[in-house]
Amino acid sequence: MKRPRHAPEPPPPARIMSIHAHPDDQEFTVGGTLAKWARAGSTIVTVCLTSGSAGSNQYTPPDMTREALAPIREEEQRNACRVLGVAEVLFLRYEDGMLEPSLALRRELTRLIRRYRPDAVVCGDPTVRFYGQSYMNHPDHRVAADVALDAVFPSAETRLIFPELLDEGLEPHHVKTVFIHGSAHPDTFIDISEVLALKLAALKEHKTQMGERDPTEMITQWAREQGAPRRMAAAEAFRRMVLEGP
Ligand SMILES: [Zn+2]
Repeated sequence: MKRPRHAPEPPPPARIMSIHAHPDDQEFTVGGTLAKWARAGSTIVTVCLTSGSAGSNQYTPPDMTREALAPIREEEQRNACRVLGVAEVLFLRYEDGMLEPSLALRRELTRLIRRYRPDAVVCGDPTVRFYGQSYMNHPDHRVAADVALDAVFPSAETRLIFPELLDEGLEPHHVKTVFIHGSAHPDTFIDISEVLALKLAALKEHKTQMGERDPTEMITQWAREQGAPRRMAAAEAFRRMVLEGP
């Protein structure tokens, strides 16, 4: 079933879990949507699977080590979340650049979903390998998205998957909606015109990644492109899955 072109913007979910591979992924991709929802009263928890200790080729000084960079990037992510209005940030501290779609990682995300019981999960699209002609999606991004979706369904809502979680008192939980960014086939558009400045401010908190670069033009352009199908000046576009209950 295809959503009609004039489908209204969905209301902000009450409880949201935003799952990403690296510090700054969230700010580049869904920062506007989260800022908007936080201001509407949503409670958001961010889960960052790595601490971004591999840095960036362009702006990480040659004498920087993984050990030194990780806490700096965690702090930048906390600051960015504060700007957006995210209530809590969790770091799972997997190695940057080495994420694997392991059952251990799926179990950890399942545990968090059962503990925080979000109505909606926000994550990337594991099926997109190439963006345009100049960016191949980072393997960590694909893994984070894949494991997030697998944790949402079937793991979080199925009682006897990871039965050891029951022993921790974590009952099954059904996530109602998944907002998937970076999809080749978006069907849901969140107008971020009013919060574009907040998205930019949050992104600028990632100082080790941004260097002297001002992301304003690029982010404004992305927002314009994503809003174009709905004639919005600035949007973040998603593929939205509304999941049937168990
Ligand atoms: Zn990333």
